[in-house]
Amino acid sequence: MLPKRTLAALTATVAAGAVTVGVVVASDPVPPDNGAAIKAAIDSSTPKNVILIIGDGMGDSELTIGRYYQNGAKGAPLATEKLPFTGSLLTWNLEYGAGPDYDPGYVPDSAPTATAWSTGKKTGDARLSQGMSTGETVPGSNAGFETTFEIMKSRGKAIGNVATSEITDATPAAPSSHISRRACHGPADTRSLCPAEAKTAIPAGLGSIAEQQVDHLLDVNLGGGKNRYAQDLDGNVGTPETVIDYAVSNGYKVVEDKAALAAYNGPKKVLGLFNGGNMRTKYNPLVAAPTPGAGSETTKCTLQDRGNEPSLLEMTRAAVRKLRNDSDGFFLQVESASIDKRDHASDLCGQIGETEQLDETVAYAMEFQKRNPDTLVIVTADHSHTSQIVSPTQDPPGFYATVETADGAPMRVSYGTGKSAGGQSHTGARVPVAAVGPQASNVMGARDQTDLFHTLIGRP
Ligand SMILES: [Zn+2]
Repeated sequence: MLPKRTLAALTATVAAGAVTVGVVVASDPVPPDNGAAIKAAIDSSTPKNVILIIGDGMGDSELTIGRYYQNGAKGAPLATEKLPFTGSLLTWNLEYGAGPDYDPGYVPDSAPTATAWSTGKKTGDARLSQGMSTGETVPGSNAGFETTFEIMKSRGKAIGNVATSEITDATPAAPSSHISRRACHGPADTRSLCPAEAKTAIPAGLGSIAEQQVDHLLDVNLGGGKNRYAQDLDGNVGTPETVIDYAVSNGYKVVEDKAALAAYNGPKKVLGLFNGGNMRTKYNPLVAAPTPGAGSETTKCTLQDRGNEPSLLEMTRAAVRKLRNDSDGFFLQVESASIDKRDHASDLCGQIGETEQLDETVAYAMEFQKRNPDTLVIVTADHSHTSQIVSPTQDPPGFYATVETADGAPMRVSYGTGKSAGGQSHTGARVPVAAVGPQASNVMGARDQTDLFHTLIGRP
């Protein structure tokens, strides 16, 4: 039996349906009916600016783990939890085959999911903003897969792309390229893995993800992945020699550390490459282990030295500072990528730090939105992942780790989809989506990930 006040609070939350205005905890007074506040917050106008923030692999489970560690169950809600309109998205993809009807797959990778909100269309694993075919190694058609970046650029908006992964990784690549396989990051990768799509193919293809990002003339493109951009351009003997050179010849300023990013205030487009691969995470790893597990009820995550790399927030601030100069507005996609990558590695602290990075970026975006109410801010994930909160008295099969939360209580997290600590997998549950600003009410309810595309581009 729940205490009377808790029961009333829960009832009020349920009655509010998909909308959350403030988060109810047991010690709160009964919250007021929020119907009037919701009605007042509905704005069907077309936003001038759009900020889309993706937590890669941030299912409800990962978000809850981040909340309990950072603020506790009894503490304040995360910024992400304060967004007024909430809903959920199905993330299924398509399975390659003879077609034209393709079977659904329930556990997608990040390529078809990013394609779904970037183009409004489903595709298969590894594929970026390109149609289906008989197999991953057989390119499909790009026809009809116009992306959010392309549409918003054609409307005169400035375009920004920020990620803590390689900037050529699937999520930042989907709105900025069309290619059959996500592994075709740079020209050398493309020559070996997507030969028909290389710029030197006959007929010429669109080229690697990195080359296409330059060709898209993104105003801001920030993340890791310098080694991909350092690959030689196919068939070019003289200059430009690498994709970095190609970017410079197309009017980009290239920055490689946070001081250079913060200092640059000129008119050029900005390409930031802050790590050869994925950027460093906020916390040192705490990798789950079989019984007796890793960590303990007094274990806290410890900060990692990230050298001269900017945080997700620092990259996002720099991007907004530049993009907001455009009088037609901007479209910015931001990704906290290593919630997913550390989840794959059963790394509890790594995963938590990336959720924290995401949330401080959401808080900043919400502040910007308050001062610029013609801005739509949306926060969501691309797919669910393996980590689960289990009882601290449980000895689950597989891999687990325990940390002390902000409540001073133990939180045990189990990783159960892989047979090795480094071999964990995505899962197929629906993911959360939350928003504020013009069009934000269109995220409400249980929807498909492709619906998000129409909300992002303003439902034309
Ligand atoms: Zn993943």
